[in-house]
Formats: sequence, C-alpha cells, structure tokens
Amino acid sequence: SEFKQGVEFKPLRDTDPVVENQITVCVRKRPLNDRESRRKEVDVVSVPTKNQLIVHEPKHKVDLTKYLENQHFRFDYVFDDSCTNDIVYKFTAKPLVKTIFDGGMATCFAYGQTGSGKTHTMGGEFKGKIQNFKNGIYGLVAVDVFKQIANPKYAKMNYIVSASFFEIYGKLVFDLLSKKQRLRVLEDGKQQVQVVGLTEKIVSKVEDVLDIIQKGSLERTSGQTSKNSNSSRSHAVFQIILRKAGSRVVEGKFSLIDLAGNERGADTSKSNRQTRIEGADINKSLLALKECIRALGRKGAHLPFRGSKLTQVLRDSFIGEKSRTCMIALISPGNTSVDHSLNTLRYADRVKELVANDSLDDSQESLAILDEDNDDDDDDFKQDDS
Ligand code: ADP
Ligand code: MG
Repeated sequence: SEFKQGVEFKPLRDTDPVVENQITVCVRKRPLNDRESRRKEVDVVSVPTKNQLIVHEPKHKVDLTKYLENQHFRFDYVFDDSCTNDIVYKFTAKPLVKTIFDGGMATCFAYGQTGSGKTHTMGGEFKGKIQNFKNGIYGLVAVDVFKQIANPKYAKMNYIVSASFFEIYGKLVFDLLSKKQRLRVLEDGKQQVQVVGLTEKIVSKVEDVLDIIQKGSLERTSGQTSKNSNSSRSHAVFQIILRKAGSRVVEGKFSLIDLAGNERGADTSKSNRQTRIEGADINKSLLALKECIRALGRKGAHLPFRGSKLTQVLRDSFIGEKSRTCMIALISPGNTSVDHSLNTLRYADRVKELVANDSLDDSQESLAILDEDNDDDDDDFKQDDS
C-alpha cells in the first residue's frame, strides 16, 4: 500500500488522564474483508498514531490512488486493524467498570455503518457464523464486574448483579430474553423511566452472563419482527445492573449499546414507505443521542432525551457528575465505504467537540510523553490469534 503504515498502538498507563473524561470517543478501523479484497477495494484509511486517523478520499473515479484528498481526524484513541477486541476493551469500556461501583452510570455505544464491526466489537469476534461471546465487550465487562465484586473492598457490600437485553426498533421495544415480547416504556412524575416487564436475570457468575448474551444475540438475529427488518435497523441494549441485597435501588448500571447501522438513518428518500419511516426514526434517535451525550459534558445543558425511544430509555445514563460515556465509532476501510466512513467520523467528532478543547490538547500532549518510557505493556498490542 502506498499509504503510510500505522505505527504500533501503544498502551497508556492506568493514570491516563483521558479515562477521567466524562466522555471518551474512539474509532476502530476493521481490516478489509475477503469480499472487499476480491473486488480489489483499496484501504483508504490510515492510522499514523494512537489518536489520529486520515481518510484518503479518492477524487478520481478510475485510478483510486490519484488525487487523494486527505481528511484528518483526532480522537481519544484510534484502533487500527491489528487491534483485537481485548485491546479495544481495555481502553474503552474497562475504565468505566469502576464507575458503577462508585454510584455512577456507565454507557458504551458502538456506532457505525452496517458491516463496520459493531456486533463483532460488542458481542464478540466471529469465526464464520460462530461468535465468541467471551471476547466481546459485553462479556469482558461481565468478567470485570465479577472481579470487582470479589474484591475485598466490595465483598461486604453484598451486591446482587442482574442483566437485561432488549432491542429498540423505531418506537417499539422488544425483550430479547423473552421471545421478543413487546414492552412499554413509562415515565413517572419524577421523570423516572421504566421499561415495564423487562426481563432482568440475576447472575452470579460470568457463565450466566454469557448464556444471556448468547440467547439475546440469537433472538436478535433470528426472531425478526417483520419480513423486512433486520438487526441493522434496530438498537440492541445490554445492561448489567448492580443492587444491594434486599434493595430495589439501582446502585449502578452499565449499558452497552449496539446501535442501528447509521447509513439507515439516511434511508429517508427511498421509495419503500416502511424503510423511509425506519430511516427517519433511526436518524432522529442518533441525533438525539449525540445531543444527550454532549449535554453530559455541559452543566445545566438541555437534555433532549424525549427525542427518541433510545435516549428516553437511557435517560438516567445522561445525568449525574459521576456518569461516564464511551463511544466507539466503527469504520470500514474500503474506498466504496468512504462516504459512510466520513459521516461516521464527523458524527464522532461532534460528540467529542464538547470536551473542553484546551484540556483535551493538554492531555494529548502529556500522553505523548508518557508513551516514550512505557514499554512494559507492549505485549498487549501484538496480534493475538489464539
Ligand atoms: P455490524 O454489526 O457493524 O453490522 P459486524 O460486527 O457484523 O458489523 O461485522 C461484519 C463482518 O466483519 C463480520 O463478519 C465480522 O466478523 C467482520 N469484522 C468486523 N470487525 C472486524 C475486525 N476488527 N476484525 C476482523 N473482522 C471483523
Ligand atoms: Mg450488527
């Protein structure tokens, strides 16, 4: 490839200031897949450093290496195609696990076009059609939640852990742990939002959670709600909830969301009426989501959570100084995906914009210095095919 190869992604220390941000925005680029390679697609995305990304937008229809327009982006982290789920997890959702033991809400979103790697990242890596739920972010969060519970510091708290898994399709909510039963969303006078009848399974070990992830994931892809619908048109919400024994009060909640394909939000001019309505709903929910995340970073900002079912259901995740959100934007590297990739990157960019620019630049600089004398964790970044 004539594009500059990305340098190795280097780990940062636990004291990494970025994880202290209320909002972290990362990008993951997947490798070209077999189909794209067969079609001689060109990889137009390069990752020169751990927080920079360049899209080499071809401006010539025939010779894709001619007249490239380079678009530069900067995020908290950029993961290139050599990074595994473990690495992505370590710098995105993992630092948020402590949040739910500290009275806060943690939320992690996977955003991107269909086929960019959202489900691969959140649910687990695919080997053919088989998904390894152990190395998805859902499962990895579960491992760390149970580790934390066993920690002597928390053992005396008598935490009860439970999990739920549901899907939002337009204005409708379906329980993925109860044969896609349709659920209603209610808001009480105190603005507490409740998904009525949502299955919440008590879990006492990682295997229990993996069972739930598997069951829900299968329900999501097989039990489609209508002939035309598929998982790319719905948002999947997996939650791990923490309560104290004998209490109904939620002490902490980790929400992990595999969003609808963002290209569906642009499906508003298609002739099919159903597709058009779906597209409008997805578009609305992704816009409301962006505004709600931005509000998290600004005190007293208006929270347009009623703008969509998704943001309404996640309302309590967008409030509170202790709450943390992480967005992982997924992109396909091929030249035919370049428009969708740029859309995804611009959206992620706007989510991040609210982070005080000064403090972001400061932290980036100190990170660069930290890197130089931090070689001990480098093993983490070698490709692990096991
Ligand atoms: P989405 O959920 O965004 O529609 P998927 O997660 O289903 O996309 O990914 C589409 C295909 O690409 C799957 O076969 C998946 O295994 C593969 N894929 C996605 N991300 C990666 C990656 N980082 N490395 C290797 N294969 C990937
Ligand atoms: Mg998917």
